[in-house]
Amino acid sequence: MECIDRARAEGRSILSEHESKQLLAAYGLPVTREAFANSREEVLEAGRSIGYPLVLKGCSAEVAHKSEQGLVFIDLRTEAEAVAAFDTLSARLPAGAGILVQEFVKGDRELAAGMIRDPQFGPCVMFGLGGIYAEVLRDVCFRVAPLDENDAQEMLDEIRGRAILGAARGAPPADRERLAAALVALGEIGVREPHVKEIDVNPLILRDGRPVAVDALVVLGG
Ligand code: ADP
Ligand code: MG
Repeated sequence: MECIDRARAEGRSILSEHESKQLLAAYGLPVTREAFANSREEVLEAGRSIGYPLVLKGCSAEVAHKSEQGLVFIDLRTEAEAVAAFDTLSARLPAGAGILVQEFVKGDRELAAGMIRDPQFGPCVMFGLGGIYAEVLRDVCFRVAPLDENDAQEMLDEIRGRAILGAARGAPPADRERLAAALVALGEIGVREPHVKEIDVNPLILRDGRPVAVDALVVLGG
């Protein structure tokens, strides 16, 4: 995997959001459409091909918690809003950081998924509630990798908040097959990529019931 080799060659233990999503996408996880922009013109160009509303983010392997540092602008509906966000980000970012333009994923449920390496059990897949309540509710479950489709389906029923995967407030039920496939894929990365120590996908947003990774962080090591 190219982005892993490059990061290791540079002595980095963290993949940027964009690199992390490239790894996820290579294993079949759905991720946001996105592109880097180095100028206002490139923001507009990216906006035309991605489509509005947009999200602009500072993207750097040095910044792990982007929103805490004022580096995430979501639901930008016009070219003027996108350009203003670009200008603000340019002023806030350290040299060498990129500005990522991505689709705004309109969903109503934020989940989290990931992979950790347990000293005894090896790679394990995590699934739970994501977004702003994730840290408060700590509603997560784990399975040792590799997972099959059944293991992954069981995980969906294991969290306390499992009811949010059903049809709710006009939203369709979660696409359980696609969600389970995403968890299976995370386990596969754990098994097949020895240099990947940890993966954190938060949030994984349900759009029309289907999961999309809108943020991802891959940690290398081990
Ligand atoms: P952080 O590094 O702070 O975790 P995120 O990329 O997760 O940054 O962005 C913070 C929040 O902004 C997310 O939890 C999500 O609610 C929202 N968000 C980020 N990117 C998108 C996107 N592409 N579409 C919709 N919402 C997004
Ligand atoms: Mg996040």
